[in-house]
Amino acid sequence: MRSAKNGWEENVRKVTPYTPGEQPDRPHMIKLNTNENPYPPAPAVKEAMKSFPMDILRLYPDPAVGRLTCALADYYGLKPENVFVGVGSDDVLATAFLTFFNSKKPILFPDITYSFYDVWANLYQIPYKLQPLDEDFAIVKEDYLQENGGIIFPNPNAPTGVIQKIEFIEDIVKANRNVVVIIDEAYIDFGGESCLPLIEKYENLLVVQTFSKSRSLAGLRIGFAMGHEKLISYLNDVKYSINSYTMNQPSIVLGVESIKEDAYFKETIEKVIATRERSKKKLKELGFSFQDSYSNFIFATHESCPAKELFEALKKQDIYVRYFNKERISDYLRISIGTDEEMDRLFEALSCILKH
Ligand code: PMP
Repeated sequence: MRSAKNGWEENVRKVTPYTPGEQPDRPHMIKLNTNENPYPPAPAVKEAMKSFPMDILRLYPDPAVGRLTCALADYYGLKPENVFVGVGSDDVLATAFLTFFNSKKPILFPDITYSFYDVWANLYQIPYKLQPLDEDFAIVKEDYLQENGGIIFPNPNAPTGVIQKIEFIEDIVKANRNVVVIIDEAYIDFGGESCLPLIEKYENLLVVQTFSKSRSLAGLRIGFAMGHEKLISYLNDVKYSINSYTMNQPSIVLGVESIKEDAYFKETIEKVIATRERSKKKLKELGFSFQDSYSNFIFATHESCPAKELFEALKKQDIYVRYFNKERISDYLRISIGTDEEMDRLFEALSCILKH
């Protein structure tokens, strides 16, 4: 159907979309393919859902998302003017691409990274130049010291899990004061050091985080950006030029509840980290190797069995991991960290597959 071009089709904006991880719904599946949190959201979220004031659904939500913005500002010791909230960090990042990457010079990001970046760049017709990671999948600082129209990368990087220190980030931000540098901290809560303290010093730094991973709320779709108030104000101008009411009422109410329950948040993170560390040992015993991960997934390759074969064999057993059929990483699996029980089932299945 798509190949036949009628007159009107000439003018269609044609894009190659991002391919999200599968969301299968099988009764006894083990889902380790989209980096969701295996633990439920904070109990306060459940309580608030039970007593949700249905009447507010009649009304448009607050376009400024005031309650959630203030709760986040309080939590991170910022002013509300330093916080922007969106429908998942995908929405925040897409808005940031459109807002800040408006130069004729190419933006820079790693060759192996979150595969949405080149999709947004193509969609918004932003020129970009990929910067290869080194052999150990680390970002090479010098690559980001050339002329550019903006910089973005995740820290820890995805899908590698490799982290850079705050000093490394600061060097890049400092050397690029004439462009906006976006650090995508989707996985920072799992043991990394956030570069958030740098936003006071550098008005060209935007830090983006999400409720989808560490707060177990992928289904609510809440992401946020923190930065200098000028950056946030520019983001809001673009947001209000597309859709004023991005955040729905339940997300605002439940998001605020989630922030209040800090002890639960920290406990859940500790559990994921403990399982990740145990999983590293198990995977090594099974013949896998990987760079050290500071996220809620491990990006691993096996000494003898091709990743694609493992991916397919696991899927037959209703165990879902992520496989990217892409240059440099086509022999790797990205395995999200589940509960201890889920990981044990994965290790059993892997050891069975590897014996045959
Ligand atoms: N950044 C990175 C690096 C990610 O892996 C993801 C998850 N796919 C996101 C951003 C977007 O997450 P969300 O929209 O759920 O906040």
